[in-house]
Amino acid sequence: MFRKVLIANRGEIALRIIRACRELGVASIAVYSDADARAPHVREADEAVNIGAPPSAESYLRGERIIEAARRLGAEAIHPGYGFLSEREWFARAVRDAGLVFIGPPAEAIAAMGSKTAARTLAVAANVPVVPGTTEPLNDAAEARAVADRFGYPVLLKAAAGGGGKGMRLVRDASEMESSLDAARRESKNAFGDDAVYVEKYIVGPRHVEIQVLGDNYGTMLSLNERECSVQRRHQKMIEEAPSVAVTPEIRRAMGETAVRAASAAGYVNAGTCEFLLDRDGKFYFLEMNTRLQVEHPVTELVTGIDLVQWQMRIASGERLPFKQEDIVPRGWAIECRITSEDPANGFLPSTGTISYVHVPAGPGVRWDSGIEIGSEVGLYYDPMLAKLIVHAPTREAAVERMHRALLELTIEGVDTSRDFQLRVMEDADFRSGAIEIQWLERRLDSLTHAKPPAEVTRKAAIVAALIADRDRLAPARPTSPSSGAPTQDAWTRVARLENLR
Ligand code: ADP
Repeated sequence: MFRKVLIANRGEIALRIIRACRELGVASIAVYSDADARAPHVREADEAVNIGAPPSAESYLRGERIIEAARRLGAEAIHPGYGFLSEREWFARAVRDAGLVFIGPPAEAIAAMGSKTAARTLAVAANVPVVPGTTEPLNDAAEARAVADRFGYPVLLKAAAGGGGKGMRLVRDASEMESSLDAARRESKNAFGDDAVYVEKYIVGPRHVEIQVLGDNYGTMLSLNERECSVQRRHQKMIEEAPSVAVTPEIRRAMGETAVRAASAAGYVNAGTCEFLLDRDGKFYFLEMNTRLQVEHPVTELVTGIDLVQWQMRIASGERLPFKQEDIVPRGWAIECRITSEDPANGFLPSTGTISYVHVPAGPGVRWDSGIEIGSEVGLYYDPMLAKLIVHAPTREAAVERMHRALLELTIEGVDTSRDFQLRVMEDADFRSGAIEIQWLERRLDSLTHAKPPAEVTRKAAIVAALIADRDRLAPARPTSPSSGAPTQDAWTRVARLENLR
């Protein structure tokens, strides 16, 4: 095992990796921008080094500077986390060229899966089912229309270099093709510096189900089974779970084997994820491979009992996987909520400020992976995800109840958060029955963001109001009353705050 590892990331994932380092007896080095000088990951790591100004391009994306820091401070390996430099082929290569170990797949595997079109070509060759569409970028709208005619509308235009839902456009009919293609190209050029766009058939009503794979340097590649990530807004995941209600043992086996085949074809090593669309008939299509640790990895950790971050480090340091496919026996159900600093009632507008209070849920089966604490500044430089709340229970029903309970315990003050919205999802009949697919959230967004507050919140508000009214009634009458009537007003102000009434 390594003696010292540099973590090229920030926030909750940097802390997650520091924890793995500590449990393995490995020293950790944090990097930070000027904006993060007082962030928890800086304090928790054994050493920390400033790498530049707040914008990512001037700090967390400065690969050369990060590698230089790793060498200077004597790190043997770099863990990139997710986002930032984690899927940049050049970075993985530069780390290796500097004589260090990149804790992730080989640069060649990142390249093979890096573009969606290259990944589709590779998948087709490995006999992995992909969504019908092209594997080559489109030349013009006429060609796009010809392809769409072949597969039938609606179709989806996708940036070959895409990620995070960027450069993606739904096209309902031929008349929309030209403007959508222009828009997708422009967006892709801006986001990724590449305007290659291809076309896929738009699958109606699918679920997003992905397979976690884990492979070592000695030819073992395992499927750690599925995660269900259909609760999405604008193609961004908000709530994830494992396993999936839609995955039968047969689908699980077939999807797992397919993912292992795709990963092996790319020469993959370490932890990675193959994303699939699962349609209503149980047919699945490979979407892409994410060549890194995923945000939602904890749900897999909880149901398999395998610490993915520790195994990433063990594999990178040359250890063999000691388990076989038949040893992977999932237990119970896990759910994750991404707690973001966004205002659901206001179109998920990012919310900034200083965290003035945090109460963290605890108790049986609750895990809190967070990057914030009281006093943390939440700005606009980085991702709005503040923390991940993850629960584990014997059944899905119990896991939903547990998440509901844990969300009720959670209080964050100082910024708006997604918490109330996620509470409503836990109370929603569709979600509870498991009848969710990727368009579900968008369809229900209005009612889930503007509906009356979750029943539990209203109940608590009513109790608070009653208690305050009681206190005020029983309190000895005040001699003078510059603010007579204030007690009731006070009670109602609190209720209104709790109920989000304006
Ligand atoms: P990105 O890399 O930008 O996240 P993906 O290819 O992973 O893009 O797709 C993101 C999401 O978009 C998926 O999880 C799914 O919700 C939706 N999606 C992608 N391709 C299709 C398709 N062919 N049909 C329907 N929905 C799709």
